[in-house]
Amino acid sequence: MGYGKKIYEEARAQLEASRRQAEAQAAARAQEFYAQCPPAQEVKEQMGSNAAKAAKAVLRGGDARAEMEKLRDKGLALQAEYERLLRQHGLAPADLLPRYACSRCKDTGFVDGLMCSCLKHLQRSMAYESLSMNAPLEKSTFDTFSLDYYASDPQALRQMENILKACRQYAARFRPDSSSLLFKGATGLGKTHLSLAIAGEVIAKGYGVLYGSAQTFAVALERQRFDQPDPDSPTDANSQLMACDLLILDDLGTEFPSQYVNAALYHVVNSRLLSGKPTIISTNLSMKELEDRYSERFASRIAGFYGKMEFIGQDVRIQRRMQKK
Ligand SMILES: [Zn+2]
Repeated sequence: MGYGKKIYEEARAQLEASRRQAEAQAAARAQEFYAQCPPAQEVKEQMGSNAAKAAKAVLRGGDARAEMEKLRDKGLALQAEYERLLRQHGLAPADLLPRYACSRCKDTGFVDGLMCSCLKHLQRSMAYESLSMNAPLEKSTFDTFSLDYYASDPQALRQMENILKACRQYAARFRPDSSSLLFKGATGLGKTHLSLAIAGEVIAKGYGVLYGSAQTFAVALERQRFDQPDPDSPTDANSQLMACDLLILDDLGTEFPSQYVNAALYHVVNSRLLSGKPTIISTNLSMKELEDRYSERFASRIAGFYGKMEFIGQDVRIQRRMQKK
């Protein structure tokens, strides 16, 4: 699972804040109780020094059994007294404990060295949020994908029905070793809409998805090349492109052409293929144009290993504009 370092750090910071808040609130509730019941604070302090004595006795070793038993009995008596005082004020012991958002990991994000489900969940929703900020994820779902725009052409309609069905299946059955897809076709035929619909479902399943236009990735890769780290994204673009479970590269061929970016994109596409990680590329270039613009190697990788989907029909955006008039 890879959401990138930035999301991981943000999620850890959010949990840490929640943990501190729970502990500060518990301390405030305890202070309030002690203000109402000063003997309780004394009992609490005695409990602390009793526990410290017991710890020292253990460290001293030797035959400390008699002393340990005495300290244990005293500890139990203090505990009972403390609970009695709490009850007197209408409280239970749990009322003064921190109320963590996650009782499993106490908002630390880890249980026995393993990442807690709450931290995974938090990263997932943060990834979804940050993706939604850059792309209309909520609007672009399978349910909002309308086949009406293709209805005037029976062949296009049949083709798009099949593509919609295949994309739904792809998202529903997504695994980190799913196949890679190439969405081909002219602008305005729903390629971006369906890639976002897949992204939304795959993120909801808990996988790390990186989505961006080829131009966005090209800028990130170029920035990395000249070693000008963006303070907002501390991790290098290349490792993020490699680490995510699903990479969606939208509008390939619209980025500003550069030898360096072409080589870097080939590297990403090829390395992800070699490690069995899926990528979805959308483009309005033909295979021949991909070959001319990038390289024969690049085009042959995609031709050989990507499942191709040919989007056909009339520009949906133009149709929508016509309807509004
Ligand atoms: Zn947790």
